[in-house]
Amino acid sequence: MKVTLLGTGAAGGVPVFGCQCHICLSAKITPSLRRNPACALIELDGAAYLIDAGIMDIGERFESSFLNAIFLTHFHPDHVQGLFHIRWGSGFRIPIFCPPDKEGCADLYKNPGILDFRQLKKFEPLDIDELRVTPLPLIHSKLTYGYLFTNAGTSMAYLTDTKGLPPAVTDYLNAIVLDCLIIDTTSPPTVENRNHNNYNDTLAIHESIRPKKTVLTHISHDLDNWLNENNTSLPENMLIGRDNMMIKI
Ligand SMILES: [Zn+2]
Ligand SMILES: [Zn+2]
Ligand SMILES: [Zn+2]
Repeated sequence: MKVTLLGTGAAGGVPVFGCQCHICLSAKITPSLRRNPACALIELDGAAYLIDAGIMDIGERFESSFLNAIFLTHFHPDHVQGLFHIRWGSGFRIPIFCPPDKEGCADLYKNPGILDFRQLKKFEPLDIDELRVTPLPLIHSKLTYGYLFTNAGTSMAYLTDTKGLPPAVTDYLNAIVLDCLIIDTTSPPTVENRNHNNYNDTLAIHESIRPKKTVLTHISHDLDNWLNENNTSLPENMLIGRDNMMIKI
């Protein structure tokens, strides 16, 4: 399984519009510091899936036949905004697996175009091609699923957006060998947010689940500034996610 992070930013991305902080000013001249909103690409032999659709140029990046399905964590705009344009595509329908959120986002349900929304049940695995996908309920201001992806004996959990984890999810992940955890780490430890992990929340989850590798995502300019100012050294098997980072699992 190959995972490419296409968007590792919090809702406003990096640089934040109008912000004059060190990271935002640096990101304007150093493309590698930029962060798109949430999106990741999973590639297996002959199949490709997106997790979330926060990037605005899905139609430019991918041929219509390339994507087998999209998995949405939830219907906040920074995770679905890239669907608003591609829904008016033609000639095919694309499965969009999502939590059973009655509202969705704006008029996506009313005018789905080529998007074929299919609601999943928590903890009920879906087998699609060679991939097994298990929805894991998270703790957020909107109904949200993280997903556990397993293929050929390897596993990756993508958990965003969330503040901590429900005990049932911690238990579920503790019962397996997890190769890679990609997790919401929006804020520095100095910021408490009811809907998102800060750095200390992520450290606690990392220590409790003990994946082989943890990758931080949904990162705000505040966390980037804090990491930069404190020259923070992460645990050996923890990485700061970057846009276009490729992870082989
Ligand atoms: Zn978000
Ligand atoms: Zn900034
Ligand atoms: Zn959200």
